[in-house]
Amino acid sequence: MQAIKRISQLKEEIRRLRKEKGDGTVGFVPTMGYLHEGHLSLLAAAKKETDIVVMSIFVNPLQFGPNEDFEKYPRDHERDLKMAEAAGADIVFLPETSEMYPRPIKTTVSVAEVTERLCGASRPGHFDGVATVVTKLFNIVQPDKAFFGMKDAQQVAVIRRMVDDLNMNVTIVPCPTLREEDGLAMSSRNVYLSPEERKQALVLSQSLRLAEALIRERSASPDEVRRRVEEHIRTAQLADIDYVELLSYPELAPVQPGQMPPSVIIALAVKFGKTRLIDNLIIEMGNSHV
Ligand code: AMP
Repeated sequence: MQAIKRISQLKEEIRRLRKEKGDGTVGFVPTMGYLHEGHLSLLAAAKKETDIVVMSIFVNPLQFGPNEDFEKYPRDHERDLKMAEAAGADIVFLPETSEMYPRPIKTTVSVAEVTERLCGASRPGHFDGVATVVTKLFNIVQPDKAFFGMKDAQQVAVIRRMVDDLNMNVTIVPCPTLREEDGLAMSSRNVYLSPEERKQALVLSQSLRLAEALIRERSASPDEVRRRVEEHIRTAQLADIDYVELLSYPELAPVQPGQMPPSVIIALAVKFGKTRLIDNLIIEMGNSHV
């Protein structure tokens, strides 16, 4: 496996590997590092579906707000490289900020509507930062397929819309959320949780299950589902709710009482101390995937 820091070198190496593998396909897994099993499951999916697997590790300053955790975001390249190699990545791209943004960026990508709610509402500018860096990375790597986790379901909706609207030559492959044994969605930010916060954070996945049951019963209105979920989250004293929303997926439009769309998302963001966690469940009538 190769660890590459320069864009020019990355392009050259991908070109070489493609040729070596007889016009091989490239799978791409963009991440911010501090890898866990969730990230590795994307690598595994990429390995299965494509010939050459490229992972990027880049904490993108453009997608963090001024009062967010850009500086404090956990980083450990040495550990990440070992994990990526063991999981079978061919290349890990770890650019410095100056390599990705050699001068202040004047061109950005902005996706309307699907970015208006959920994390788009509570983190202004976040998805412009995501759409812009993903566009840059797609242009650099030129992958055939790119793999994203449904843990960030809004991100998947935004990237899919962007790729579709701008005719980008890449297939987006959504992958299921990996969870700890007790249900907590894996996240690089989980390391920030104190033992007590970690225990209480279980209310997130529990409340999604509660929402699923209520939605499937079809007896509760969208507002009632939200209220019941919030009520459950508040049983954890350390939980500070940012949002709980029930929307259609992937449009992310409000659900009208009595008109459940074929696919809905129950999405939440909750702070425990300084740590903001997100989780979601997409419910399709007939089955569900978390
Ligand atoms: P991040 O490093 O948090 O930006 O995540 C990089 C990629 O890994 C994104 O596509 C995430 O959706 C995905 N990811 C993060 N956590 C999980 C998880 N628990 N299960 C599956 N994918 C995940």
